[in-house]
Amino acid sequence: MNAEDTTPRHPNGQFGGNWPGKRCLAKTRAGDPCQKPALKGKSRCQLHGGRAGAPKGERNGNYKSGYYTEEAIQGRRKVRARINELIILGKQTGMFN
Ligand SMILES: [Zn+2]
Repeated sequence: MNAEDTTPRHPNGQFGGNWPGKRCLAKTRAGDPCQKPALKGKSRCQLHGGRAGAPKGERNGNYKSGYYTEEAIQGRRKVRARINELIILGKQTGMFN
């Protein structure tokens, strides 16, 4: 097989040649894409790293207060950026003299 050949390995199976879902494109040792169905919301199958990475938020075993969730961190970053803008504006208008 070569990379252009997209013939599925199991043409009569549940995920046949015309299965419309997303397929894993990991390069196999034969050099062609894996073609197994990718995991939900992922671009790889379970054999090629589709389950890699830790769960986010409360599903992560180390979750405590939510202070370090992506959302909370983004929120703090936004507030800090706004404060810095206001400090610059204050300096420009002589507010701190
Ligand atoms: Zn795969």
